[in-house]
Order: sequence, then structure tokens, then C-alpha cells
Amino acid sequence: MKFVVDCMLGKLAKWLKILGFDVAYFNRAEDGKLLSLARKEGRVLLTRDHRLRAEAKDVRSLLIGSENWKEQLEQVLDEFQLKREVRPYSRCIQCNSELKSLSKRAAKNLVAPFVYEQATVFAICPACGRVFWQGTHFEDMDGKIGQILGRGRASSPVLRKRRPSLSK
Ligand SMILES: [Zn+2]
Repeated sequence: MKFVVDCMLGKLAKWLKILGFDVAYFNRAEDGKLLSLARKEGRVLLTRDHRLRAEAKDVRSLLIGSENWKEQLEQVLDEFQLKREVRPYSRCIQCNSELKSLSKRAAKNLVAPFVYEQATVFAICPACGRVFWQGTHFEDMDGKIGQILGRGRASSPVLRKRRPSLSK
């Protein structure tokens, strides 16, 4: 399922990407652009704007009720029954491309030395080259994702945890 998210819902857009969904989001965009993208790419429009929703008769759309991003996310996941399709950290939150896993050795020259030392699992965006890693800041995110999905910890198909290597 692909989405186009209204400009006022930036945090919802970011979290849908973190959970692995294909999301088109712009800091600024005319309503017409959002609608034409929804039509052209078969994206579901997410908005809190009643007027925009009314204009979007010919596209699939959802009117978001809450101002709270967690409740917004909950609404989207419930409405389209997406909790089973969640794949955390599988998509670049910058450019929306699917991440590829990256060996620690290959990551060495791409990240800061302290990141290289601390992180064990890396992934790279083939489109923009941005490198992601499983490090301490994920602990907090994992907790949030666990709350959202109503289970313990989140697991990523790309950034999945591996046993630390014994060889030096
Ligand atoms: Zn990217």
C-alpha cells in the first residue's frame, strides 16, 4: 500500500516510512500536486483537511482525525489493517527507497569512527547513499514501534540483529 501524505502530517509521514511503507511527502505542495500524484501512482491520500478530502473524490483517501501522531498512525494501521505488513527500518526516511544491507567492513569508510565501533548492523540506501545503522538511538525507536504494534520489540528484515562475530 502506497501513500501520499498531506504537508501538515509530517510526523505521520516519517513514522510510516520508519515502519517500511512507501510514502510520498513534501514540506510544501499544492493540493493539486498531491491529488495528481495519488491518481498517477495509485497512492492513498492521508489528510486532515476536509476540503482537500472532498476534492479527492476519485482517489482513495482517509481523513485523519487526531492531532497526535501516534493516534494518527494507529488510525492508518487499523483502517487498512497494516500491522502485519510493517517492516521497520526497511526504507530510507530521506528518499523513500528500499534499503540494502551493508557489511560492517563496507560501512567502515562511510560512517564516523564512533559509529563504526558501536554499531553492529548497517544498511545503505542505494538511491541517496545514506547509511543507517542499528545503534543506541534505535532502542528508543524500537520501544515506540513495540507500543504502536502492541508487541515487545520491533525487528527489521534488513537491520536484523546478528550475533556478534567472535573473530577480530
Ligand atoms: Zn535514500
